[in-house]
Amino acid sequence: MSVLPPLEAEIRRRIAAAGPMPVGEYMSLCLADSEHGYYTTHDPFGAGGDFITAPEVSQMFGEMIGLWMAAVWKQMGAPDNLRIIELGPGRGTMMKDALRAAKVMPGFRDTIVVHLVEISPALEAYQQRNLESVGAPVYWHRALAEVPAGPAIVVANEFFDALPINQAVKGEHGWHERAIEIDEQGRLAFTTAPDPLPRFDLLLPAAVRNAPEGSIFEWRSDVIGMELGQRLARDGGAALVIDYGHAESAAGETLQAVGRHAYANLLSAPGTVDLTAHVDFQAFMAAVESMGVNGFGPLTQSQFLRRLGILTRAASLKAKTADPAVVTTIDAALKRLISEGEVGMGALFKAAAFAHPSLGVPPGFES
Ligand code: SAH
Repeated sequence: MSVLPPLEAEIRRRIAAAGPMPVGEYMSLCLADSEHGYYTTHDPFGAGGDFITAPEVSQMFGEMIGLWMAAVWKQMGAPDNLRIIELGPGRGTMMKDALRAAKVMPGFRDTIVVHLVEISPALEAYQQRNLESVGAPVYWHRALAEVPAGPAIVVANEFFDALPINQAVKGEHGWHERAIEIDEQGRLAFTTAPDPLPRFDLLLPAAVRNAPEGSIFEWRSDVIGMELGQRLARDGGAALVIDYGHAESAAGETLQAVGRHAYANLLSAPGTVDLTAHVDFQAFMAAVESMGVNGFGPLTQSQFLRRLGILTRAASLKAKTADPAVVTTIDAALKRLISEGEVGMGALFKAAAFAHPSLGVPPGFES
């Protein structure tokens, strides 16, 4: 028999010892296991890469985020000591582009300390190289809770989709948690718990409660959203969260595995492909707001980037070059970022902001 990948062996051992493994625990091990998890062992953007994110599509994305941060700083009264926190910075590209663009706001860069929250040692090394000369001190942390107190601007792009979700399937007598078992052929397979989750209906939005039998509902832990809200409410500041997902809670399976830019099987080769699921912005925003901050949006990524002036930025980049190939590249990147059609991230991706009640409406979120 062939040797199993180490994480699969561990998952099988746990199922054999404790019974079917809930989807949330499986996803958490696959992504974040400290020895064999996808993010702990891979650079998803590396040679060939598994996927591409907005900051890697074009510098314009990070630049818009930089303008947003600088405008929020101004709105906060230009404090002389501000933490810039990024959750899940990937290669550090967005922060690098953002801090370069924020130079247009005099004084901003002299007042900031950058805090990156990252679990992947491989990506942390990348971020160190990329942010070497940004002109501000940079510190790394494994969790948001480890970042020292103080007023902050928090940004996160494609971070929350990588946090584990749980799934339940609607049956005749209620919702049953979905789990992973070892089937009769000895393969990892989905199953559902025999007993329904007690009082699960109470947790569900009304629209989902009436979903037909067989429907799947996904939910995430509210913990990081609540930590974020608590921090902003206590210390002041604002947050910008961009991710793909739906504006309103809904039934439906969105959990997916991606490797080498193609969909992969969720249960084969755990730990070697990326697992993500839509962000349920309604649930996420409620969690953050419950801690006493105001929430704004979600806007589509397209609306948000246009409001910040991405069209003007693209035009000025194009005006700087005489090379038609560069112009084509800029146009293609712009389309990818803001098109609401099939090729684009413009509609599926959404931007939400949160702010301490004293701050008012963050830039771009005016109604
Ligand atoms: N923001 C980047 C990367 C997105 S990929 C971009 O847009 O390109 C998700 C990022 O979150 C990676 O950096 C990954 O290592 C990190 N990550 C995933 N789970 C995490 C967790 N639980 N805590 C901290 N970082 C995490």
